[in-house]
Amino acid sequence: MDRLSDRLSIRIVGSTLERDASVAVALILVQLLAAFTLTWALGGTSHVPPHWFYFPIAFAGIRFGFVGGVPTAVAAAILAGPLSPGDVATGAAQPVSDWSIRGAFFIAIGATLPAMMRHGTATIQQDRRQLHTEGEVRRGLQRSEFVLHYQPIVELKTGRVVGAEALLRWQHPDHGLLGPDEFIARVERIGSLASWVLAEAATTTARWRRIFALGQFTVSVNVSAQNLAQPDFVTQVQTALKAAELEPRHLCIELTETIRVEDLESTGARLQVLQALGTKTSIDDFGTGQSTLSYLRQLPVDVIKIDRSFVIELTRQERADSIVGSLSRLARELDVTCVAEGVETEAQRLALWNHGVRFAQGYLFAEPLDEVQFEQVLVGGAQLGSVPLTQPDNRVEPRATVPPGEPRATA
Ligand code: C2E
Ligand code: CA
Ligand code: CA
Repeated sequence: MDRLSDRLSIRIVGSTLERDASVAVALILVQLLAAFTLTWALGGTSHVPPHWFYFPIAFAGIRFGFVGGVPTAVAAAILAGPLSPGDVATGAAQPVSDWSIRGAFFIAIGATLPAMMRHGTATIQQDRRQLHTEGEVRRGLQRSEFVLHYQPIVELKTGRVVGAEALLRWQHPDHGLLGPDEFIARVERIGSLASWVLAEAATTTARWRRIFALGQFTVSVNVSAQNLAQPDFVTQVQTALKAAELEPRHLCIELTETIRVEDLESTGARLQVLQALGTKTSIDDFGTGQSTLSYLRQLPVDVIKIDRSFVIELTRQERADSIVGSLSRLARELDVTCVAEGVETEAQRLALWNHGVRFAQGYLFAEPLDEVQFEQVLVGGAQLGSVPLTQPDNRVEPRATVPPGEPRATA
């Protein structure tokens, strides 16, 4: 049914465009003819320069681009050139130099105008889309259209839920439930959305901690470089924690994207202030960015998240296996906790465990869940994943590091 309506609408749009194109071609011809007639009626080009030919050239260029602008300009050059006399009364022809220079000018306009128009309108459209989205986000915030979903982070050995990553969703009135990839890049600079995410995640976590008596349960909030660069970022975090009555150690700031090397110092200083308050810092998609190793040197890092791309290849490619092994060892050496992302299969879970990775998240355990679904997991004992894993032969027991969270006190 959908396909049928799609086909119908494509046909309707197609025929409308075709009809529209023939009307436009007719208009260009009429304008050319009118310009030609006017030149003759006013006594020839030596009496009045034939500027009206610019109208059909501009119209054709805007409507059809280069393929319309240039042929119309050539037609105009001929009509206003050899086909129009300099003086109608005496029949004197125009000097060739006059009409050839004018013709070249027409063609140059017909060729360049479409390119200029395209550039100009693209910028305007982009600005308008941006404005539209910013306005929509503000309205969306007022109308409570944003929600957070939470993906459990589990301890591999036991399957116990030790934390969650808060992932933003937009329940858009026209477009349905949108994932962050569909809107986050365009709205990142809207600070109010980032501080809403912090406040909402802190409030929900504090509530869960009260109701379910969770031990060290930690919530990870995605924070972009742009969010972090806001002068009041530290205040935003403090305000969110205070309003929610959540202890800072239960919040982990997850850096989601590459930070410019020149900004590393200021970012580090800001994170240090937060760490002094007690929050944790994690590096998302570790191993994919350009400068992730310098992060370990320059930022106060507690957790690294091994990117899904390495986890996918784990059991298929020896190199990915070595990379995960090295990352896990590196984390251990630096006393940093390692969390693997995007774990989908039991084989991946086992391979990670064999590499000494203690924590993971992924569809194998749970997809991002809405608040109600997450609460069901907590009610059910906060236990996800199948059989507990036993000590592997080649596994080095990790040092006691700062975990993303600890299992429920009651579990
Ligand atoms: P991310 O931080 O790497 O988040 C993980 C993404 O992988 C999530 O997509 C999650 O749904 C998905 N995922 C989790 N487990 C699996 C798995 O086993 N298999 C597969 N195929 N995918 C899995 P989501 O929710 O669409 O988020 C996409 C990205 O949007 C996030 O990537 C994060 O960078 C960004 N993002 C999400 N929420 C926020 C936010 O509040 N603020 C900012 N700045 N960025 C956010
Ligand atoms: Ca993340
Ligand atoms: Ca990630």
